[in-house]
Amino acid sequence: TTNTEAELIGKHEVLPLYKPREKFSHKGQFGHSLIIGGSHGKIGAVTLASRAALSAGAGLVTAYVPKCGYMVLQASFPEAMVITDTDEEIITAIEFDIEPTVIGFGVGLGTNTKTISAFEAFLEKNKIPLVIDADGINMLAKKKTLLKLLPENTILTPHAKELERLVGAWKDDFDKLKKVKAFSKKYTCIVAVKGANTITVFGDKLYINTTGNPGLSTGGSGDVLTGIITGFLSQGYEPLEATVFGVYLHGRSADIAVEDFGYQSLVASHVIDYLGQAFIDLF
Ligand code: AMP
Ligand code: MG
Repeated sequence: TTNTEAELIGKHEVLPLYKPREKFSHKGQFGHSLIIGGSHGKIGAVTLASRAALSAGAGLVTAYVPKCGYMVLQASFPEAMVITDTDEEIITAIEFDIEPTVIGFGVGLGTNTKTISAFEAFLEKNKIPLVIDADGINMLAKKKTLLKLLPENTILTPHAKELERLVGAWKDDFDKLKKVKAFSKKYTCIVAVKGANTITVFGDKLYINTTGNPGLSTGGSGDVLTGIITGFLSQGYEPLEATVFGVYLHGRSADIAVEDFGYQSLVASHVIDYLGQAFIDLF
């Protein structure tokens, strides 16, 4: 632990990462985000993550959902394209004929064994950059052999429960970070340990976020973060930059939104709606 470096992340730290848009830019430069997730009753998670990816700046967004999600997404989110699984309620095969720049995987997915097998088959033949959240993380915890198949610098965004399933229980915060650092090194991945002060861990390096508030303690706020990081990765930010900047902007958006909604009434969609204000607030 003597070689641990911890950095506090505020506006001053993320501003140099910001990629301005050129006058002659076109959507092809900002990548194609594919959000894979959803199951019967949890299509909203995919809608939130997809909307967040687009509002974070992705050029194109496609959602990959079970059949029951088709109408929901097309009707509620016209900017997204939709690909459906052959199954009505869960994802059973991850096969598509598009070429996504990046994949956000796991929100609302469930952990059916058929879905786990589909994920395994997919990992065996693809090396597309990945952001894994929620049930995607729970699958990795259930079937540890999947971890070796992850592309280098995969981003994981666990909340405390998901993290515990992945790395085991910890004695205290110090022990927790020790476990996460070891995990990050073993699998060469980036782990955003979510909480009131989200800490991004990459090897021995720690990035402690300074934005966000208890208004984020509400269903769907993590799905929005998944979408934001996927959208950042899609437009060319490096995985570590995309994570640190995405976590910052997610929290900042919530900090601006809470001025209008208060802690109790803030909901996850507000965090998407206020992303623009968070970008503008950088300058
Ligand atoms: P999830 O549990 O997956 O929905 O993720 C919740 C999101 O909200 C994460 O990005 C957390 O860091 C954030 N969050 C939850 N509670 C708080 C809090 N009290 N203060 C700041 N951020 C929070
Ligand atoms: Mg979550």
